[in-house]
Amino acid sequence: MVYLDHAAATPLRPEVIAVVTEHLAAYGNPSGAHAAGRAARLVLDDAREEIGALTGTPAQGVVFTSGGTEADNWAVAGVMAAKPASVANTIIVSAIEHKAVAEACAREAAHRGTTVHVVGVDAEGRVDPRDVASLLSRGAALVSVMAANNELGTVQPVADIAARAHRIAPDAVVHTDAVQTAPWHDLATTTAGCDLVTISGHKLGGLKGTGALLIRRSVPLAPLLVGGGQELGHRAGTQDALGAVAMATALRCAVRDAVEAAATVSRLRDRLRDGLVNGAGAVATISTAPQLPGHLHVHFDGMIADELLFGFDRSGVAASAGSSCASGAIEQSDVLAAIGLAPSAARGAVRFTLGHTTTEAEVEAAIATVSAVVERLRRRA
Ligand code: PLP
Repeated sequence: MVYLDHAAATPLRPEVIAVVTEHLAAYGNPSGAHAAGRAARLVLDDAREEIGALTGTPAQGVVFTSGGTEADNWAVAGVMAAKPASVANTIIVSAIEHKAVAEACAREAAHRGTTVHVVGVDAEGRVDPRDVASLLSRGAALVSVMAANNELGTVQPVADIAARAHRIAPDAVVHTDAVQTAPWHDLATTTAGCDLVTISGHKLGGLKGTGALLIRRSVPLAPLLVGGGQELGHRAGTQDALGAVAMATALRCAVRDAVEAAATVSRLRDRLRDGLVNGAGAVATISTAPQLPGHLHVHFDGMIADELLFGFDRSGVAASAGSSCASGAIEQSDVLAAIGLAPSAARGAVRFTLGHTTTEAEVEAAIATVSAVVERLRRRA
């Protein structure tokens, strides 16, 4: 199989497998007042410190969660629940946030009467920081713009957005979902100025069900989970030291390899794009916007993504769609609607994402396979 769905989950890094193997049999509860507990606590706190140092976050601000979804949900609900009465009951988000942010905002609107301003994007998914700034003059409790989009890979100027937000609306808490960015970019610089940052372990080559909310600055933030006081009172529940050390190890590898990986993977991605454009009639959705190295978003006009993906999978290529099929009806993705992609193009949208294990031979095989599948489906149509 040629696996080109790394943005959904990427294989464990060898270093992660080694560290997980080393710690798998450890059973102590990190809250335990005994040697087994202290050993687990040490592993957890070392992981916390390492992730803090790698991301420009004070160690005590690294709060482990069950993944990116929980961290996103918590950032939105936690900030709005703790917001002082004097601060506007308003959230500013981009139109292409992951549903973990978008639906959490919708819930605030439904349950607390929160005003949610949605900032539009251009045809390649870029947020203009000036659009965020113009909304900020009316005040806001939370600004949440993702560092890079999961479908398109478009990178957002979140440091610029954070700087403007702090200048114009000092009460606003700035959150960014950096789940897709963390495997590629240095978060300390790309998300500089953001108060809250979401990361997810399994996108980095760590374990599934792991993640963190990075709290860079003390901001009003109510816990989502209560009942134990763990994580300095930020998140109740027995901590997962194994997941934490796996994520810290995966992040260390990503940071260590970042420069070389960006060059190698973006070269492979460009080759895949050119091969699919020339060999399979694909149209690249992004051409000028800054994009993550591993993302390739294309559309096959007049074709149906689910049929394409089924054909690719049967021929040994794993990719994913920007649209999903619910009870027989093709539902257009919110992201593709936000960039104004025509429905006929969006229906045939496919995301290929490369990662740390992708090879040149895999890319050549994918070009040949995808081209053959597309040709077969076109002939049949
Ligand atoms: N945010 C983004 C941008 C994502 O791509 C994902 C997962 O695909 C998530 C949040 C959710 O992360 P998790 O799968 O760790 O819950």
